Amino acid sequence: MTEIPFPAHASVVVLGGGIMGCSTLYHLVKEGVNDAILLERNQLTSGTTWHSAAQVRALRSTQNLTDLIRYSVSLYSSLEEETGQATGWINKGSLSIATSQERLIFIKRQEALAQLFGVSAQSIPVGEAIERWPLMNADDVIGAVWSPDDGRVGPSDLCAALVKGAKNRGARIFENTGVTAIFTKDGKITGLETTRGSIQCDAIALCTGLWSQDTARLADVHVPVWACEHFYLLTEPVDGVDGNLPTLSDHDSHLYCRDESGGLLVGCFEPLGKAIDPARIGENFAFQLLPEDWDHFEPMMMNALHRLPCLEQAGVKMLLNGPESFTPDGSFMLGESAETRGLFLGCGMNSVGVATGGGAGMALAHCIIHGYTPIDLHEVDPKRFPDCYNSAENLAKRVPEVLGEHYAITHPGKQWSTARNLRLTPLHSKWCESKAYFGQFYGWERPLYFNNEEQPRLTFSRPSWFEQVGLEVKQAHEHAAIFDQSTFGKIRVHGRDAEKFLNRVCANNMSRPVGYAVYTAMLNERGGFESDLTALRLDDESYRLYVGTTSVKRDMAWLNNNIKTGEQVSIKDETEDYSVISLMGPKASTIAEQIGASELNQLAYFRHGESTIAGVPVLGVRLSYVGEAGWEITCKARDAEHVYDEIYSAGARPSGIFAQSSMRIEKRFLAYGHDLDTDVNPFQAGLGFAINWDVDFIGRDALQKIRQSSLDSQMVSVILDDTEACPLGNEPVYLNGEIIGKTTSASFGYRIGKAIALAYVNTSLMAQPEGSQVEIDIARTLYKGTVLLKPAYDPESKRMRVIPSL
Ligand SMILES: Cc1cc2nc3c(=O)[nH]c(=O)nc-3n(C[C@H](O)[C@H](O)[C@H](O)COP(=O)(O)OP(=O)(O)OC[C@H]3O[C@@H](n4cnc5c(N)ncnc54)[C@H](O)[C@@H]3O)c2cc1C
Repeated sequence: MTEIPFPAHASVVVLGGGIMGCSTLYHLVKEGVNDAILLERNQLTSGTTWHSAAQVRALRSTQNLTDLIRYSVSLYSSLEEETGQATGWINKGSLSIATSQERLIFIKRQEALAQLFGVSAQSIPVGEAIERWPLMNADDVIGAVWSPDDGRVGPSDLCAALVKGAKNRGARIFENTGVTAIFTKDGKITGLETTRGSIQCDAIALCTGLWSQDTARLADVHVPVWACEHFYLLTEPVDGVDGNLPTLSDHDSHLYCRDESGGLLVGCFEPLGKAIDPARIGENFAFQLLPEDWDHFEPMMMNALHRLPCLEQAGVKMLLNGPESFTPDGSFMLGESAETRGLFLGCGMNSVGVATGGGAGMALAHCIIHGYTPIDLHEVDPKRFPDCYNSAENLAKRVPEVLGEHYAITHPGKQWSTARNLRLTPLHSKWCESKAYFGQFYGWERPLYFNNEEQPRLTFSRPSWFEQVGLEVKQAHEHAAIFDQSTFGKIRVHGRDAEKFLNRVCANNMSRPVGYAVYTAMLNERGGFESDLTALRLDDESYRLYVGTTSVKRDMAWLNNNIKTGEQVSIKDETEDYSVISLMGPKASTIAEQIGASELNQLAYFRHGESTIAGVPVLGVRLSYVGEAGWEITCKARDAEHVYDEIYSAGARPSGIFAQSSMRIEKRFLAYGHDLDTDVNPFQAGLGFAINWDVDFIGRDALQKIRQSSLDSQMVSVILDDTEACPLGNEPVYLNGEIIGKTTSASFGYRIGKAIALAYVNTSLMAQPEGSQVEIDIARTLYKGTVLLKPAYDPESKRMRVIPSL
């Protein structure tokens, strides 16, 4: 057989021949990139993919992640027809059981989500669950949900089918070909050096699984993935296992179970996983496993024996221990890296690589070809991680917990317990003195609420912090509160062309005089939100953009990528140089006078100006994210404690993120990642007022077209009748028994005394939204609510626009 010559050029080079690489290659050539090649340094599937348990459960936490798996299911069940190669797809469904009340609520919330996402899932009586899994001991089972469309696949067969499909369309695959160097010029990929020679290319799809940190480092890119051991038990044939069983998900016991070759396969996500020293999985780790660890598996074995008593008699074939890669937040990475253009990541699959691989490969190929994913996937954008997670120490601490959380109940307010205190705001010691309960956002510790004496009680019903958050809202509503906004991304845009540049990347009019603040969006060509931000015009050639805490890397990349050749503009991340202290409430103006910062009281709404507090210079901007009058006050990070002390001594008191969140929801101020994303346009979000049609901004053409057609969905507020209801966001909204929308953010609204949710509703299914009576499905209980088109609290914004008289 003649060897295929190694090409000197390929448009796209895919690195890694596991499920992610094979799927990405298949979709690239399917979309017309016929010269794409795949390089695998050992053999195809030899990394993690070959030993995967390969279950495919469709339901994820968001519609779009679920849709990726639904795409996988349709691909895996149809590839044989296209390629003649079977994938081993078996559709036997999955059965989730609950043995605790909180788990039952959790799986019912998932069942509600399934209705919203179009996935089949229904509660079934325990008796029916036993019929579906007769070998199960159901003594402690109190409820079950049945998902008939789930299944499993043969991972190696699946890759063989994808590869066959790709080759049929012209793709070439080179095994035993490792990458030794990646070349870049002006921050862009230009080619690679391999063990077979060098190759020029325009883009790289980095799908190298456990080894992705090493591979990315060749391009000076840091990828926070780390490997953990993952175990499943395989038994000899067991009586009663005839034919295929559904997957049994017993997440209270940290277990999944199914049949395998007449025996049982019992896998676990134990509460604390075992991180792997990278030295144990070097480049020759192909078709290999890690040693069995019965001591570590023993608690899981006890759980398994309880659930499946037949295991007592079953002969053990092996305790399989395979490595899998995890990321700091438990979601994978898909998209272009922030640092290097043309380097696209498809790695860190967090135990869902086979289930998601079909859809994720399709989305990655789309992103490489078109520059964006086919649906919003911001939750897996690699740019969501700050650099502090790249350290080996932090990753090795965090990923065992991430593995343990895979089956945990995601209660509201739950926080990671490892790799904390990585980024502290300049006011951190103040927050510790005020007994803050902290949450981690983009590595930063932020106070969620204060006066926390002990670990909070996590629940889906009214939380233990309910009263305290109410007091913090009251502080802002009746007196004056201090919110720490220091974690906002602060980006300086400077240069002769700064105004022209911002008028192109922002949808509002940025040609405002010095001293003005502008709320604006950065839109993509499709009219969807890439970001929303507030810009301060500092001087003729300078602006400071205040962007969301978690958006800064992404926004920096978007801004840099949109600078045109020859344009004189520089973009600088100044986040850590400054602190932002918000002073909000009816007494804010009195406090400003008291502390000698009376200049702030002269500022009109959305204007900024300088003042002095505690002898240090500050810049105040009059606006509000909570609906009360006040300023966001920026000072040098080193001065923050002085400013805080002065404001505090004048009577203001700290309020946390939970209070802020409740207040912003009442005011219907939208948050990126919850209410806004790349698929949402300003008209749907009710933010059409922030568009300046006089300038030619990115997304304008798309918005023009959207403006001329009728609106398909619209953001509304829903006030719930039952004051005990606890909506969280991501719940279906029903009208007359039909799903017409979904909630995006929710909270108790302390100023209105009711629970409130923000929701997108389908306007074609709801002719008259205002005043409509709808129902929100919270864990399969329908709660009645009334739709409002305006904000629920102070719709005319009188409180925040008018400075109370002194
Ligand atoms: C025990 C176990 C059970 C699992 N069960 C499930 C399940 O039920 N459902 C599910 O969805 N997922 C499951 N997973 C997870 C799933 O198997 C993985 O997420 C998936 O296989 C990862 O695929 P990948 O393509 O990202 O990585 P891999 O399969 O590891 O492929 C990466 C490839 O890159 C190659 N490579 C590395 N460096 C280079 C280089 N420099 N140049 C060229 N090639 C390189 C490697 O040799 C390797 O072949 C399980 C994992 C384990 C360990």
